[in-house]
Amino acid sequence: MANGPYTTYCAPRAFTRPGDAVETNQPRRTKGGECHAEGCVVRTREGKPFCPAHVARMDYVRQVIERVQSFEEEMKKLQRGGGVRLNGVLAQDILGLVEARGVLYTVHIANEYKLDATVVAKVFRALEKAGFVTLRREGPCLAAFPVKRAS
Ligand SMILES: [Zn+2]
Repeated sequence: MANGPYTTYCAPRAFTRPGDAVETNQPRRTKGGECHAEGCVVRTREGKPFCPAHVARMDYVRQVIERVQSFEEEMKKLQRGGGVRLNGVLAQDILGLVEARGVLYTVHIANEYKLDATVVAKVFRALEKAGFVTLRREGPCLAAFPVKRAS
């Protein structure tokens, strides 16, 4: 790059002396009262680090992360031959899908969740044993159907 003349975009920074007010696109991080989220200048309340909108978003993100972590742990345990947790993320997901779709095949869950079909079959059987679904063998697959609830 050629030396000087200064281009206009670098001029403000180049000619700034300590103490000069500088416009930057960095989030302002004053002591309190301002949201810490990137670029957010909304005032916070009661000494919280984030504004109400960002507090809600952080809670949501934390919940998603926790869910993913517990799901991954559950998958690891299952793949290692651990028992099925009926209130775990996978069993609950399967149950939700069976009820939403009317029928669910082990192969679909194995593909979607990148699990061994035998592991999925184990969860299906546990759900059947607990009375949540009925199973039918269809070729290499198990098909799960929702149990009709007496209403
Ligand atoms: Zn905010």
